[in-house]
Amino acid sequence: MNQHDNSQKLFTRAQKTIPGGVNSPVRAFKSMGGNPVFFKSGKGPFLYDVDGNEYIDYVSSWGPLILGYCHPRVVAAIQKQAEKASSFGAPTEMEVEMAELICQWFPSIEMVRMVNSGTEATMSAIRLARAYTKRNKIVKFAGCYHGHADSFLIQAGSGAMTLGIPNSPGVCQSVAADTLIARYNDFASIVKLFDAHAQDIAAIIVEPILGNAGVVLPKEGFLQQLRDITKKHGALLIFDEVITGFRVAKGGAQELYKIAPDLTTLGKIIGGGLPVGAYGGRRDIMQMIAPLGPVYQAGTLSGNPLAMSAGLETLRIIAEDKEFHKKLETKTARLCAGIQKNLDKFKIPAATVRVGSMGCLFFTSQPVTDYESACQADAGRYKEYFWHMLNLGIYLAPSQYEAFFLSAAHGDAEIDKTIAISAQALEKIAKK
Ligand SMILES: *Cc1c(COP(=O)(O)O)cnc(C)c1O
Repeated sequence: MNQHDNSQKLFTRAQKTIPGGVNSPVRAFKSMGGNPVFFKSGKGPFLYDVDGNEYIDYVSSWGPLILGYCHPRVVAAIQKQAEKASSFGAPTEMEVEMAELICQWFPSIEMVRMVNSGTEATMSAIRLARAYTKRNKIVKFAGCYHGHADSFLIQAGSGAMTLGIPNSPGVCQSVAADTLIARYNDFASIVKLFDAHAQDIAAIIVEPILGNAGVVLPKEGFLQQLRDITKKHGALLIFDEVITGFRVAKGGAQELYKIAPDLTTLGKIIGGGLPVGAYGGRRDIMQMIAPLGPVYQAGTLSGNPLAMSAGLETLRIIAEDKEFHKKLETKTARLCAGIQKNLDKFKIPAATVRVGSMGCLFFTSQPVTDYESACQADAGRYKEYFWHMLNLGIYLAPSQYEAFFLSAAHGDAEIDKTIAISAQALEKIAKK
């Protein structure tokens, strides 16, 4: 059993000066009904907390660390750059190489602009979509997360009302009215919105693989239907690939499902663990951004040299290995098969959902196809599972509605150990 005395002390101290003791809400473990672990360092697939406990990590800093912690080449790249300059607020060669790499691997991206977070990327992409189409409304799907800009903190209105309503105080009703909410994997819900608002819809924004309600895969043909209807009505299709970009394939979900969106947002992996986001797409649209065009968007630290050095080195390492994603997928499949075997052994109604090296364990026997069905999963069971795993040295996301991620640093030994520990955890759950 792991002890967490130092984490407890730090959490008590943190709550005095930081709201909730954390700088991003999910970190507080609130839905797990406990207190967060404070970390000190990581190495490869391992994490070390302030009490000296070691964990095999499946959070990967929520996705960015596809090479694991402290890959020697990424560390060296950051160190080398830190000695030259941490920031110029002026262009560098690294930004050009970054843009070229992104455009090479995402054929739908002809031009790209770097920003500092996924939130900035999606926020800027919808501003651009609105400017390009001269329309106001955007469509998003329940359960998809696109960062915390006002336009995205919206939930479906009740009954016949198709206009969204704020799901956070501080988001104006007037802003919410321009966000329409559809159901993931339910094309009829999109048709309904276009029937009512076709002339006002600037864009559909979607996580092509829903990675923020657990992991939910797109039904066959669903993304193509989104491509077709946006084209038909002159709206743009925005793929939010902040998680899936470079994760499920070099060219993201759009490579996997062979759909070319008009705009794509990226983040997480392209920063190699430093704060980065990007948005890019068709040249005729991207040319509207300042200083080339009238759509304003800027950033003091955009294209920051430290972030570019970490991100570029990460992408180079991925690029060098033609089998990179295949190997990662094989390992993830091994993990999921092992966990599934344990679930079956203890007759627990649950299933792992997986694509590439991202996945999720839903405690339900029903298929999960959208946000509503994801919410039917037994979150209480996930909570039990989470604590058993944590106490046995496996760090999972402290929420049923987050994905797990494998890194290239996870070896078969760590995976087999995780499977064995999951058997212990699931046996306890089954006996309860
Ligand atoms: C994480 C995430 C974002 C937001 O990125 P931040 O860097 O946290 O602002 C946007 N979209 C998706 C799909 C994400 O998973």
